[in-house]
Amino acid sequence: MIRFEETLYPHWSQTFRVQKVLYHERSELQDLAIFDSAIFGRILALDGVIQTTEADEYHYHEMIVHVPLLSHGDVRAVCVVGGGDGGALREVLKHPGVHATLVEIDAAVIEISRRYLPTISVGSFDDPRVTIVIADGVRYMASSGSMFDVIIIDSTDPQGPGEVLFHESFYASCRNRLKPGGILVTQNGVPFLQPDEVYRTYCQLRPHFSDVWFFTAAVPTYVGGLMAMGWGSLEPAHRSRAPELLRTRAAQVALETRYYTPNLHVASFALPRYIERLLL
Ligand code: SAM
Repeated sequence: MIRFEETLYPHWSQTFRVQKVLYHERSELQDLAIFDSAIFGRILALDGVIQTTEADEYHYHEMIVHVPLLSHGDVRAVCVVGGGDGGALREVLKHPGVHATLVEIDAAVIEISRRYLPTISVGSFDDPRVTIVIADGVRYMASSGSMFDVIIIDSTDPQGPGEVLFHESFYASCRNRLKPGGILVTQNGVPFLQPDEVYRTYCQLRPHFSDVWFFTAAVPTYVGGLMAMGWGSLEPAHRSRAPELLRTRAAQVALETRYYTPNLHVASFALPRYIERLLL
């Protein structure tokens, strides 16, 4: 029997019984694996770390996309940095009239996700509203002239090629690429196990955004409790949208979700004390 043991933490791990290995190769940048599992369906792992699973991906992708887009309310241009599985892109495209730019460093992730995880991207890579850029997000943000209403950092953890996406200079470049009232959202790990990541991002975002906070989502395969997503906004009112307004906005785009709700959106900014203490 083959088992996949995640290597994210040195002293503790989750393990999957592998039903079938569909792909396992090294790209120039990282080790890529796709395998079938019983409870979570098909799973994508990069450098031994779970990125997404067919069964629970919507918890993460719906929250990292709809919380900023519906808080903002008038989004035309979105940039997703990372996100090579196409799940965040799929959720962005539920908002009509939005153009999405995907900046992914590793073309191989897109290729294997397109091939083995079609239920996650559901055709979004080929949507005419999408521009795909194969580039390092740091270089792209520093050199591109494009401006966005929302930037979503759908990154790996701060190791390997994703490490550069957890630096203050990168957040400063993102801020420069945001239109007035824009929002930056970041993948910030699981605070119970990665508390430094939240604290560091908080300190690095604060000099550049008028409103900095975190919101949370429970994603079963991001083990260790709630996962945190960083929030840097140029308009503090975005964080206190009433559920009624969010409901109206969701209805206007006929939004269908399996995890996200307007009530959960509002509640996701209420942090447990152990996370709040990292910030205050
Ligand atoms: N939802 C996932 C999670 O939290 O584990 C992240 C999924 S997505 C597959 C992460 C993507 O970020 C990967 O495809 C990886 O290649 C990409 N990535 C890593 N470093 C990057 C960089 N510097 N610039 C752009 N994309 C990057």
